[in-house]
Amino acid sequence: MKSILEPAKRIPVFGTYDVVVCGGGPAGTASAIAAARNGAKTLLIEQAGALGGMSTLGEVPSFCPFGKGKKPAITGIGLEAVERLKKCGGLGVTADAIPWVVKDPEKLKVIYDEMVAESGAKVLLFTFVSGVIKSKEKISYVLIENKSGRQAVAAKIFVDATGDADVAAAAGCAFFKGDKRGIMQAASLCYRSIGIDKKKYYKFARAIDTQKGAKEWWASLVKKGKLAKIDKAEYRGLGPQEIYPGSLGHNFGHVYFADGTNADDLTRVMVSGRKLAQSFIEYGRKHVPGMKNARIVATAALPGIRETRRIKGAYELTLDDYLNARHFPDDIAVYDYTIDVHNATSNKKEARKFDRDFDSLWLKKGQTYGIRFRALLPQGVSNLLVAGRSVSSDRMMNGSVRVMPACFATGQAAGTAAALSVKKNTLPAKLDMKLLRAKLEKQGARVK
Ligand SMILES: Cc1cc2nc3c(=O)[nH]c(=O)nc-3n(C[C@H](O)[C@H](O)[C@H](O)COP(=O)(O)OP(=O)(O)OC[C@H]3O[C@@H](n4cnc5c(N)ncnc54)[C@H](O)[C@@H]3O)c2cc1C
Repeated sequence: MKSILEPAKRIPVFGTYDVVVCGGGPAGTASAIAAARNGAKTLLIEQAGALGGMSTLGEVPSFCPFGKGKKPAITGIGLEAVERLKKCGGLGVTADAIPWVVKDPEKLKVIYDEMVAESGAKVLLFTFVSGVIKSKEKISYVLIENKSGRQAVAAKIFVDATGDADVAAAAGCAFFKGDKRGIMQAASLCYRSIGIDKKKYYKFARAIDTQKGAKEWWASLVKKGKLAKIDKAEYRGLGPQEIYPGSLGHNFGHVYFADGTNADDLTRVMVSGRKLAQSFIEYGRKHVPGMKNARIVATAALPGIRETRRIKGAYELTLDDYLNARHFPDDIAVYDYTIDVHNATSNKKEARKFDRDFDSLWLKKGQTYGIRFRALLPQGVSNLLVAGRSVSSDRMMNGSVRVMPACFATGQAAGTAAALSVKKNTLPAKLDMKLLRAKLEKQGARVK
């Protein structure tokens, strides 16, 4: 690619903080709240116009289960947000989707705003973190771009919750991306509809989401020429997710070969995703029971990117850890969600593997695996923590830790660790794990 030399220039320093959190999705929001609650002067930087990432602007209709057992595996800030949603009528009306937590994204945006404000953290929206300035093994500043221009922000500890490990990558930390071919899971653009007769539609949706009893019904409609033969994996997620009466959330459709760290590909995901959503609704209006009057009211403002960079951390969580329900002395959370790695291509074999793994790899009831603190520590930079989707994990294990309850948990742990590191005048890698775990437990997070 042709390149030019950017002339050096002086830029303003926006501020100096104890902790700067980059990215305001579930991980970053929890991280900033935790850091501020633990006394750190905290700034949360988000490129979009609202907090929540995929849980709000990404239009993902539901949180994955916080746990399969009697008591939730993931507790803490994520569950606090759910409790608040419950109180203000912001949980979806799809009772049979529980323990998947269907939620109202608009109410959730306000809840995040309130929780962050109450914590005392400052938020900067419409601000993109575009780079870092390093001094030896430490980041001294992140560079930000917004309507006020290009500025720098200083902090003692930084948390990378961009989902893409943008900060870690800019700081030169090692990472992995995609499968052995370098291809990533398919992307999806989620959306919300109105006008669907849910009773009729649910039968259709269930036919795709489960095999139970509905397979024959589905096949008979195909035979009658009423429905196209659709590969189940392509349509998983059509499920009955009623966000508020009369409005369904759709987490469906695949856009392939998109690298979420490439602007051209991100553009293609938005353009193709919108088209796919409309074409499904158009198809449904003609052919699918209950969809005669269907309309889309919103497509996501953020592209549904399931996978990009996973940092090469001080410890890499593995599928073997998952399958053996392994725990560690530095666990900062426990979880039990299945291995959810969508196919990277439309190849039927790959699509079936996604289905097979998703259905068959659930841990036994009561079993959990541990998410250890060292998976949040990138290599080569000592004052950076990584939370959310890009924590250090092999590709299969990432299929479990990438979902939102786990992202809340790694976010809360990173924020708490950042604040404690500042308080103790130390670095995250040197932090006393007993102290961190005790603090997390005291503040509602389950660590064992
Ligand atoms: C289509 C799809 C369906 C899914 N379905 C489910 C589901 O049903 N249930 C579930 O629990 N999980 C689901 N997931 C997984 C889950 O939504 C994500 O993995 C999770 O949201 C990741 O959380 P995060 O905080 O790490 O990142 P994100 O939610 O992606 O948030 C990252 C935030 O950082 C911001 N950001 C990124 N880069 C920068 C930058 N350089 N500067 C400033 N800001 C930046 C983004 O705007 C965003 O707000 C789904 C994911 C996708 C893509």
